[in-house]
Amino acid sequence: MTERASIEPRIGRAAITDGKGGFVLDQIEVRPPIGDEVRIVMGAAGICHTDHASLSWDGPLVAGHEGAGWVEAVGPLVADLAPGTPVLLNWAIPCGQCVRCEAGQANICERTHGVDPVAHGSSRAGIGHTLWRGKSIERAFNLGTFADYTLVRRAAVTKIRHDIPLQQACILGCGVMTGVGSVLNIAQPKPGDSVAVLGCGGVGLSVIQGARLARAGRIIALDIRPESLARAVQFGATDAILVNPDDVDHHEKIEAVKTLTLGRGVDFAFEATGVAALAFVPLRLVRNGGTAIQVSGAHGPVEAIMPHFWWDKRYITPLYGGCDPDRDFPRLMDWAACGDIDLPAMISRTYALDELGEAISDMLSGRTAKGVVVFEEGAHLVPYL
Ligand SMILES: [Zn+2]
Ligand SMILES: [Zn+2]
Repeated sequence: MTERASIEPRIGRAAITDGKGGFVLDQIEVRPPIGDEVRIVMGAAGICHTDHASLSWDGPLVAGHEGAGWVEAVGPLVADLAPGTPVLLNWAIPCGQCVRCEAGQANICERTHGVDPVAHGSSRAGIGHTLWRGKSIERAFNLGTFADYTLVRRAAVTKIRHDIPLQQACILGCGVMTGVGSVLNIAQPKPGDSVAVLGCGGVGLSVIQGARLARAGRIIALDIRPESLARAVQFGATDAILVNPDDVDHHEKIEAVKTLTLGRGVDFAFEATGVAALAFVPLRLVRNGGTAIQVSGAHGPVEAIMPHFWWDKRYITPLYGGCDPDRDFPRLMDWAACGDIDLPAMISRTYALDELGEAISDMLSGRTAKGVVVFEEGAHLVPYL
């Protein structure tokens, strides 16, 4: 353990949600870490559709759940993280002790997600230790990455290889993990299997990269935007289908995919659009006995027709690509370092924190595959670098 970091509170800027679809940039006070907490100086934070959704959740909240930064101070129980260490933040924080964690399903840890009847909420960090306007404020997913400083538990932190810049590493923690993990951890296609991906934003492009890593045969991308399809091909899609927005009964999509697969349908079809009305379309793109995977976390009511589930089809909704941070982040970083996962090409644009509103509207309009907020002054706030 290096020298004990500063125990002063830190004042920084943060994006605070208003519960009505908006946010304000304002100052927060981040208290010194206690117990197993780690105070982070943010370096970069990815922007995800969930961030847009979070603006309407009960709040106020410090927004943001993808991020990378530097350790600035640690609580007394943290012995293995020196100040100045670059780290990735992980929003599905495993407790390591509940039945799900012990069964190898850290992504659905019962304590973190508040369903453990014995230890409700015990993985939540820093409650009462981040202050806004003099009162404690919660952070989105116990992270709150759209802020100069944040306070997280040790279990939310993974060290980053020094050859991966923070502004690339930060997107591993949600979109890339969800897409690549849903392919490699959950679907597990065999070499040569066929895959379709509906929606080619940040998660869809990560599904395509995962399918390429799995040596899938045909990788069919579907999107309503030609520019998104061009990116999909760049990332490894073998076929691109421009979706007609008027194809509301989905027959054109289904026919196009079947035409490419000898009339059968693909082995695996992923929905990565975030549009609830499309949630069950993958069932109609897969062959009999095929697997439909809904990775976008689409909300809202949607009608299902039971025969679409028939003929031994499976429909699964993996959370966060089955993320096991100890297993998955090191290998994602290895693939990123050797170019097997192309992080730089995923990032369409970087923004300053005060451009966050523009970044969110660029994401919603499809102008960006992935936007990243870069905290220019971050490194200067770490006294040990
Ligand atoms: Zn996300
Ligand atoms: Zn757990």
